[in-house]
Amino acid sequence: MFIKERQEQIITKGGDNSGLVGGKPSIAGSVSQRACVFCGSRVVLYPIADALHLVHGPIGCAAYTWDIRGAMSSGPQLHRSSFSTDLREKHIIFGGEQQLYDALTELIDKHQPAAAFVYSTCIVGVIGDDVEAVCRRVEAEKMIPVIPVMSEGFQGSKKDGYKIACDAIATLVGTGNRTDVSPFSINILGDFNLAGELWILADYYRRTGVHILASITGDGRVDDIRNAHKASLNVVQCSGSMIYLAKRMKEEYGVPFIKVSYFGIEDMSDALYEVAKHFDNESIMERARALVRDELQHLLPALEPYRKALQGKKAAIYVGGAFKAISLVKALRLIGIQTVIAGTQTGNTDDYKLLESICDDGCILVDDSNPVELSEFVKQTGAELFIGGVKERPIAYKLGIGFCDHNHERKLALAGYDGMLNFAKEVYETVSSPVWKFVNR
Ligand code: SF4
Repeated sequence: MFIKERQEQIITKGGDNSGLVGGKPSIAGSVSQRACVFCGSRVVLYPIADALHLVHGPIGCAAYTWDIRGAMSSGPQLHRSSFSTDLREKHIIFGGEQQLYDALTELIDKHQPAAAFVYSTCIVGVIGDDVEAVCRRVEAEKMIPVIPVMSEGFQGSKKDGYKIACDAIATLVGTGNRTDVSPFSINILGDFNLAGELWILADYYRRTGVHILASITGDGRVDDIRNAHKASLNVVQCSGSMIYLAKRMKEEYGVPFIKVSYFGIEDMSDALYEVAKHFDNESIMERARALVRDELQHLLPALEPYRKALQGKKAAIYVGGAFKAISLVKALRLIGIQTVIAGTQTGNTDDYKLLESICDDGCILVDDSNPVELSEFVKQTGAELFIGGVKERPIAYKLGIGFCDHNHERKLALAGYDGMLNFAKEVYETVSSPVWKFVNR
């Protein structure tokens, strides 16, 4: 059932095995759930809402649109359009540079974006179009940043795309000269404003007296990113995708960073306290404490009925990054659910040590899994709930168990205290749905 070469990537907590190894390339026969390099870059960059995003490649690559990855914007909606150069056979034979130049200039004239990102896909890497030269030419003509994102899908996995996207963002950072920046300002990295989650967090930070300078990966704006080097702190969620940018900004501009998660009561509260600690300001800390107190006063009683109803249920988690998995194990425990499978697409070996340390004995931990393995684990453990993304949904439904979407496609805010209540409701509704009575598990 399991591919021998994947031995180090599957362990059972408390079993006779050494630690889970992460960061390995996918094995071809495994049909990994990971997406391609281009997809990784696109996920990170497209929430920059006032930029043009042009996919240089065949129309199929442009399928990664806002419709399946809905980062919300409070202003411009340009990021929702999935522009493509629509390369056809003749471009593959004679080259696609002219097509790219024409598409870029036409789109910039029409939409007047603050910047343009041009994504290079597999076939462009094969035919050797000089994307960087076309971008330089258009940048000089149109006087806006035109940034090549060299994200050919075959270069590696989604995780490599994250790094390429961070490099693309880094070309903007440091080019702004805003002077009115609060000393208590932060950048938010790795929150994608799915279902408006960033706005929930922004409200919390505002109430503690902290100012968000740039929310780089959610409701993002080019000008804010250009000035992001002036913030006092980078607050990084989804460290798998954004840690590289945080490290670059620390080296190049001296902006320190902390890693946080906004999922679940414990991690949300820790995030507010860690930011307050960084500023070493009693007023911010006191306001953070008051906020947590207020929120929990309402939230804990509201969670109680769900905790009673869900007590003793078992869950499988398979998500993109390990930090989210860690938060989910804690959040599930809070509502009485035991995690029996915990896996991620892009966790590294250190992340997995942490994940293993918070899981119960008997929990199966897995890196870079596939549908066959995940189905088998569900059957072995008797999990009644699957938490994952669009690729895991059919696995859960085919096995006749509840499913909660915790990926980029979700339409329900799950971050913060409000999100914790939504999460408990969603989990309760799916696990307790009467439909499962009619399914042969
Ligand atoms: S693997 Fe290549 S062809 Fe497929 S979506 Fe990614 S960039 Fe496009």
